[in-house]
Amino acid sequence: KALDPFQSEFHQAVHEVVESVTPYLLENPNYVQLKILERLVEPERVIQFRVPWIDDQGMLQVNRGFRVEMNSSLGPYKGGLRFHPTVNLSILKFLAFEQTFKNSLTSLPMGAGKGGSDFDPKNKTDHEVMRFCQSFMTELQRHIGANTDIPAGDIGVGGREIGYLFGQYKRIRNEFAGVLTGKGLEWGGSLIRPEATGYGAVYFAEEMMKSRGESFSGKVVTISGSGNVAQYAAEKVLDLGGRVVTLSDSSGYIYDPAGVDREKLDYVMELKNIQRGRIKEYAEKYGCEYYPGKRPWGVKCDVALPCATENEISQEEAKALLINGCEVVSEGANMPCQPGAVHEFLEARILFAPGKAANAGGVAVSGLEMAQNSMRLNWMRDEVDQRLHTIMKSIHKMCVTYGERPGDWVNYVDGANIAGFVKVAKAMRAQGNV
Ligand code: NDP
Repeated sequence: KALDPFQSEFHQAVHEVVESVTPYLLENPNYVQLKILERLVEPERVIQFRVPWIDDQGMLQVNRGFRVEMNSSLGPYKGGLRFHPTVNLSILKFLAFEQTFKNSLTSLPMGAGKGGSDFDPKNKTDHEVMRFCQSFMTELQRHIGANTDIPAGDIGVGGREIGYLFGQYKRIRNEFAGVLTGKGLEWGGSLIRPEATGYGAVYFAEEMMKSRGESFSGKVVTISGSGNVAQYAAEKVLDLGGRVVTLSDSSGYIYDPAGVDREKLDYVMELKNIQRGRIKEYAEKYGCEYYPGKRPWGVKCDVALPCATENEISQEEAKALLINGCEVVSEGANMPCQPGAVHEFLEARILFAPGKAANAGGVAVSGLEMAQNSMRLNWMRDEVDQRLHTIMKSIHKMCVTYGERPGDWVNYVDGANIAGFVKVAKAMRAQGNV
């Protein structure tokens, strides 16, 4: 904290992991001597760069670009790029730190990284986004590579941006390589990658519910966000017989007690991915309630899936969820629950899945995309989905192994942190003091 006093999100993420792994470290003092924790919190490399680009008015704009190469003990750096005005080093270090444990939990050979820019793709034309992406990649390309560092998407970086970034990488390096994941299907992408994070968060919740003899059938589900993760979490909830009653964006949320059915979800995908509109338009089209400037945690529900952004559930909102009957929370987003909210859920002993376990499905299928790229072939949809499902079940099992507590309860926060830590720590010990 003394070194980086303003990195509050990073400190929050580190604090949670340290709390979980301390008892494990006390039993394994060798890792303390080797200063594994001290090394884990220090990125192997941080790259920061200027991104100049020309807007449609011919004016020069300047943004800040970053890549945090956090940990390469399990494989090449791997993690998404975020384009959002709030991006700074604290946010990216927290995301890269979380990624270390998440990628470890997938059991695939991936190290951890994260990057992005304070560029805001909202209200920009396609041409502006393209020029920005090209300038961003002109610098980033010298630091990444299919065996070095493989970025992907995150908030504000979807199929369109990955396409422009890939095009520029290919042009400068003169190689068609699996250097980014989340690519289009026609040019090296994997089936199920767009669905993977949302589906995975629901698969994980389903596994937790099974342990209590429950399922999604007939459950009322509140979801935040209406982007990539939220859309596919909603789709999988529908597949499993649940009823999704909310979606949101940074302007507010819609409450549709009748449920977001398949047709309405198709409209949301069109609205958000093609028209790039606001969720408010859903309320206008389907005549349901819209709450501007609010988050959807005050409604009656059985399951909550926060799928928008970090720190989007406060302690007070967590209490409201519990009072309203919520018994399952699966974090589709990264660190959406504030520490006070996590505390409430753990105290109440509900089924609470932290993002590093619950949303690992996205990076897992990115790992599968890398495998397909290396083999130069594509797996079928069902095959990738089955592999994703198997990985989510295996992550759930690992969390249970390390998080099982007396009274037939699993602390998934401890479980995910310790299970993720053990594998990375072993690899770091084997690779010496690097
Ligand atoms: P998208 O950009 O596709 O969607 C983000 C959604 O969250 C939008 O509805 C957006 O609303 C909303 N949102 C973003 N920032 C805020 C904010 N500050 N306050 C309120 N709402 C906000 O991103 P993704 O769906 O890809 O990512 C969502 C979360 O999931 C992030 O935490 C990301 O790190 C995490 N994640 C994503 C993975 C992936 O594969 N995509 C993998 C693992 C985790 P608006 O349109 O108004 O900005």
